[in-house]
Amino acid sequence: MKIGFIGLGNMGMPMALNLAKAGHEVRAFDVTATPEAPLLPVASAAEAASGAEAVITMLPNGQILRDVAAAVVPSMPKGAVLCDCSTVDVDSAREVADLAKAAGIGALDAPVSGGITGAAQGTLTFMVGGGDDSFATIAPLFEIMGQKAVHCGSSGAGQAAKICNNMILGATMIATCEAFSLAGKLGLDQQKLFDVVSTSSGSSWSVNAYCPVPGVGPQSPADNGYRPGFAAELMLKDLRLAQMAAESADADTPMGQLAAELYARFVESEDGRGQDFSAMLPRFDRRGRD
Ligand code: NAD
Repeated sequence: MKIGFIGLGNMGMPMALNLAKAGHEVRAFDVTATPEAPLLPVASAAEAASGAEAVITMLPNGQILRDVAAAVVPSMPKGAVLCDCSTVDVDSAREVADLAKAAGIGALDAPVSGGITGAAQGTLTFMVGGGDDSFATIAPLFEIMGQKAVHCGSSGAGQAAKICNNMILGATMIATCEAFSLAGKLGLDQQKLFDVVSTSSGSSWSVNAYCPVPGVGPQSPADNGYRPGFAAELMLKDLRLAQMAAESADADTPMGQLAAELYARFVESEDGRGQDFSAMLPRFDRRGRD
């Protein structure tokens, strides 16, 4: 397949390389990063999109996605599919889909879970919004870049799934960190708490797969000085997107709102920037009840 790939950062570069190594012709563009071989470098996003059957974007935010979509859609042949894998707001995803559809082009919002390791290993999970035909066209590419693609519904459904998932993750990680910190201050062995909770009703991915206590549970960023992993500022971005969506849908999300406030404080006023999102645990350890 002829593919245009735009946005070659921590996630986009390894995803594009996996497509090229699988034998696809991938013309790649980024405003700063230089495409690595066997990607074919081009001078603009429009050039990457010209003649492409599929254009994949992996960009920082919704504003940049809207600008890039406006630049690439006029260059894409009718019947091609624009597949955005960035995490952006639901409204931007729907706006880009409308722009594409008006030009006779299919559109998918297909944000991912799995992080930079999943991008490198081709084990991402895609949550996808858009039409059946577009999903069928891109499904073989999802198989190369990931291990699972769930077609969640129409345009915007993929972004909705992503921010709902990460709102649960942010809230459960905070609850996990404060509980393990409380346990330590009560003199309870944190390994014993893990042994109990990981097989009890308090279990979750945050406890069982990503325990924030060093030396407890499977290997996680806590065992590596809280180097990310999944950075606290990326969690903050996703929690803010969830709150934007909650506002536009008039949904009551008090736990998500509090999680966004706590991560904002951690990243913007404390020492959270550059740390893994599970570094909330030492944050709680340092604090008293104030
Ligand atoms: P990144 O900042 O490393 O990469 C973004 C790239 O986009 C950069 O190389 C930048 O130069 C490029 N770019 C910006 N504007 C551009 C433009 N106009 N044209 C072409 N290229 C442009 O970010 P990342 O970590 O690769 O994340 C990409 C997306 O994936 C984000 O939306 C992020 O929220 C999401 N995501 C990231 C992770 C993760 O663990 N890093 C996990 C899941 C989802």
